[in-house]
Amino acid sequence: MSSPLISIYSRLPVAFTHGEGVWLWDAQGRRYLDGLAGIGVSCLGHAHPRLVAAISEQAARVIHTSNIYEVPQQTALAERIAQLSGMEEVAFANSGSEANEAAIKLARYHGYKNGNTHAHIITMDSSWHGRTLGTLAATGSEKARKGFEPLPTGFIQVKYNDLDAVAQAGDREPRVNAVLLEVLQGEGGIRPSDISYLQALRKLCTERGWLLMIDEVQSGIGRTGKWFAHQWADIKPDVMTLAKGLGGGVPIGAMVATGPAANVLTPGSHGTTFGGGPLVCAAGLAVLDTLEQDRLLANAETVGAHLHRRLEEGLADVAGVNEVRGWGLMLGIELDRPCGVLVTRALEAGLLINVTRDRVVRLLPPLILTSDQADQLAEILIPLIKQFLAE
Ligand SMILES: *Cc1c(COP(=O)(O)O)cnc(C)c1O
Repeated sequence: MSSPLISIYSRLPVAFTHGEGVWLWDAQGRRYLDGLAGIGVSCLGHAHPRLVAAISEQAARVIHTSNIYEVPQQTALAERIAQLSGMEEVAFANSGSEANEAAIKLARYHGYKNGNTHAHIITMDSSWHGRTLGTLAATGSEKARKGFEPLPTGFIQVKYNDLDAVAQAGDREPRVNAVLLEVLQGEGGIRPSDISYLQALRKLCTERGWLLMIDEVQSGIGRTGKWFAHQWADIKPDVMTLAKGLGGGVPIGAMVATGPAANVLTPGSHGTTFGGGPLVCAAGLAVLDTLEQDRLLANAETVGAHLHRRLEEGLADVAGVNEVRGWGLMLGIELDRPCGVLVTRALEAGLLINVTRDRVVRLLPPLILTSDQADQLAEILIPLIKQFLAE
């Protein structure tokens, strides 16, 4: 009998029964090195004792109340995020898409309150912001959007990492009031933007009175070695969105606002039934505490640099390897040809990876990865890539 699951995923033929640290086991008892962390989610690896304890203890007290009551865990997590980002306000959601929806709504409401009732948002080519209708309209993937028209209007897509393209789009469309981007594109192929571009973009947004909105859903929460990837450019956005790593595996998203974006949303203008409940916020607090106390940002930076070097050395002069790139433990290996088959081959070799944009091997291992484990990862992956390119 065929499965009643709607086949929106072509799934790999494996199911995991349990995990520990950077390892996962399948039903046959085979062990896998997790180089993907559930697409950048399981930042503390699997079954981390502190996260398990926080979730179990909270579940035994109360899982859900409602946002019509005070939720102390939510307030505490908002305070932590505000402190780490230097930003003022936080609203919670259940996913990256939802956090970005909130950001889009905030930009529009900001326009509306300032006499611009059809605010437009500039977004980037090859960007990824989610699969809801609003975030899909903002997403720079023709493939993801196709067939779902009509999509919400009010988005202008420009070339990524090109300041003139942003300025010119604003010259042509006076209703622009925000720019939304990832500073290090994830789904788009682990494509970093230039630090100088980010700094100039920050200035341009300030000059023109636009909100700078940074999607840190994949790159945030220590992934690149800073709490938030934009901190490498020493800039502060007006709006930032978070999700993936924030709950260490439980579904949570957040939209963070400051400066001109603070105090824009008011009671009745936005809301969520589940967002920021006691369970996920207790998990979020445990994640942030553990990242801090175990110095996992520094670990992501040093082990990331180590892995980056190992991959570069191991793949140097291999025909077909275009580039190894990324920041911290958010790494991509771009080949000159589609390489989706590597995912299955790595799985067979006991390694979990992903391929994005057809040609980019993506690595997002847990931030607890050690240098030894990074070596093990490289020792499995490099020969697979070499063999594939030699075929
Ligand atoms: C994954 C991702 C999203 C979407 O998050 P979901 O939780 O899948 O809705 C949005 N933006 C970026 C940068 C992402 O990587």
